[in-house]
Amino acid sequence: MAVTEPAPVALPAAHEGILRRQSLRESAARTYARSLPIVPVRARGLTIEGADGRRYLDCLSGAGTLALGHNHPVVLEAIRKVIDSGAPLHVLDLATPVKDAFTTELFATLPRQFADNARIQFCGPAGTDAVEAALKLVRTSTGRSGLLAFTGAYHGMTAGALDVSGGATDVRVTRLPFPQNYRCPFGIGGERGAELAARWTESLLDDPKGGVPTPAGMILEPVQGEGGVIPAPDDWMRRMREITAARSIPLIADEVQTGVGRTGTFWAVEHSGVVPDVMVLSKAIGGSLPLAVIVYRSELDAWQPGAHAGTFRGNQLAMAAGAATLAFVRENRLADRAATLGARMLGRLQGLAAAHSCIGDVRGRGLMIGVELVDPDAAAPDALVPPTAPALAAAVQQECLNRGLIVELGGRHSGVVRLLPPLTLTDEQAGAVLDRFADALAAAERSMHDSTDSGQSC
Ligand code: PMP
Repeated sequence: MAVTEPAPVALPAAHEGILRRQSLRESAARTYARSLPIVPVRARGLTIEGADGRRYLDCLSGAGTLALGHNHPVVLEAIRKVIDSGAPLHVLDLATPVKDAFTTELFATLPRQFADNARIQFCGPAGTDAVEAALKLVRTSTGRSGLLAFTGAYHGMTAGALDVSGGATDVRVTRLPFPQNYRCPFGIGGERGAELAARWTESLLDDPKGGVPTPAGMILEPVQGEGGVIPAPDDWMRRMREITAARSIPLIADEVQTGVGRTGTFWAVEHSGVVPDVMVLSKAIGGSLPLAVIVYRSELDAWQPGAHAGTFRGNQLAMAAGAATLAFVRENRLADRAATLGARMLGRLQGLAAAHSCIGDVRGRGLMIGVELVDPDAAAPDALVPPTAPALAAAVQQECLNRGLIVELGGRHSGVVRLLPPLTLTDEQAGAVLDRFADALAAAERSMHDSTDSGQSC
């Protein structure tokens, strides 16, 4: 059947006007809107259409939310079904058939050992609220207040979540080194670097003069996303589990970004086989609509009624869209697909790195991919790796946009180009994404080179 192109819903002039009014009316805290001046009016799968009639391949996916891409038919059908049924859309935290079905589907995807003895708390609909709930839960259940968190972490924008994120300074939070190959804090990377990071954690906890009383919990991301796509080594994950279990410290896995097949297993903790005490889940679990929960070992459930409340904990449309998404990812083995396709994309990017010295590192897991851009000419003589190149990364993002490709930046200095495509990405689409990326990189290199006129190319 021929597919007819729908008429554009807005004109280029409207596009300009909307952007202008946005910059006049919205706050200085706007983020994506600054680097991606597009006005989405229609979207399907990987593709977004702007009000100016341009089409973009979207590898930002709502900051990793859209496991099935935009407006997947199963998601739309689930939403329509709720609306057509006349079910209430707002129900606080009351029981409903929609919520019941979502919980059943979610528990069916979780590691069996964990799900068999777990409780769920529906939170306010942002990941950061679920992080707050997790921190509160472990503090209540242990009666302790301190927390262990990691360098480079990102857990959200509310006060408690910020405290456990990389940039914070809360005295109750002890910052531990997150293992990383490329910029290993111990200068060695690999298994040995991760082993030293684990040993530091252990020694700090066991040192009576270490200044770290037994904490209420440890929170970690199995793959740091905003921190620059840094996968935690599986052995290190297991060490964190052993260290915390031996000291009765609840382990919180923040799977807000890594969940629902993104990293090549349904949940990223499955790579290491670690069973955490608390899992923080959001983004993809709502099938593109706002939803956030924590799931935790039932013994931790020491909460009083109302200990974590909120008006918007009963988003029926999100639960229906989320249940449909979880089921689709499970039934179609999209986690396996993410693993295979992600490995292939990483391979191609590594090939690109061999030809471009400004690619310092290519890393990722499944369809959570990062390309760290560096300035090889600016490396100090004794530096192990060159400094990151945020200006080049911004130029690459812009050149990608010019070629109809939306990518995200992350990492300590926003020097990492991130790809978070939907798990439904076809081989052909993956090829198109990488072609556009390679082309954009070459163009950004050229323009940086021309502007600095250094006579050197990276
Ligand atoms: N945790 C992680 C790992 C995240 O990546 C994010 C968002 N990028 C959050 C928590 C916070 O989620 P939200 O933006 O929905 O509050």
